[in-house]
Amino acid sequence: MRSKINSIVLILGLALVFLPLQSQEPAPVSIEKVAGDVYCLYGQGGNIGIFEGENVLLVVDSQYAQNAADVLKAIKEFSPKPIKFLVNTHYHGDHTGGNPIVGKGAEIISQAACKASFLKGLKPEQAPETMGAPEKTFDTDMTLQVGSETVSLLYLGPAHTSGDTIVVFEESKVIHTGDLFFNGLPPYIDVADGADTQNWFRTIDTLAKKYPDFKLIPGHGKVADMKAWLEFSDYLKMLREKVAAAIQAGQSREEAMESVDLSRYANIQDMGGFLTKKNNVGWVYDEMSKQK
Ligand SMILES: [Zn+2]
Repeated sequence: MRSKINSIVLILGLALVFLPLQSQEPAPVSIEKVAGDVYCLYGQGGNIGIFEGENVLLVVDSQYAQNAADVLKAIKEFSPKPIKFLVNTHYHGDHTGGNPIVGKGAEIISQAACKASFLKGLKPEQAPETMGAPEKTFDTDMTLQVGSETVSLLYLGPAHTSGDTIVVFEESKVIHTGDLFFNGLPPYIDVADGADTQNWFRTIDTLAKKYPDFKLIPGHGKVADMKAWLEFSDYLKMLREKVAAAIQAGQSREEAMESVDLSRYANIQDMGGFLTKKNNVGWVYDEMSKQK
């Protein structure tokens, strides 16, 4: 029952995230250079990373199904080279919905748990191939050589979901963080899929040590540097500490949502819909009470 409730909460939640975006005019697609041969495509849904090799493109994530044609058009105008690889950072529909269109003819790659969650989300009448399910998977890491660029796909354990991939462009010095980074807004925490906020902030700290001067394409929000990601990591740490104290003090989920004060993180602003600091408290409360 618990998992059923979680699934309903998840579906409602995802619908709410997308609603404010869908009720507006579609966000225009724009492409910005990040560093080296890596570009960020902004549009509707999760940010897309584009690596332009000598002969082919590697694309990270595909946004929603409904804007996939616009995304593909923008990529083709940017470069006529074929898309050889499409990497999915995680299974959420604002990152994988465009797979059948953006990933047509490409090899679609994800971490194994991401593929499992993607398949679990399909309706019986939706065939995995036509929905653009990842074809190739890995457990801990995979290296793709695209021309002179080494692209490292890393899985450092559950964080935002159970199967998050971090994409590192080693020569261009860029990381696509997937949804391990919401820049400037409260993150979604997919507790039902096995999110782990402790491992999440530890992963950020590990990567910040290893790649201190890399530029970042966050899952949501503008391109950023490591300092901003570390501030976000600090937010997750503080969130957990405060929720742990509230649970220790015997507070209910609702009481914790009222009492936990995260106002010192002025850079993280509530978004319309359900991406709010209050909901962050609620989700971490669910996560921590599940672990007890
Ligand atoms: Zn996500």
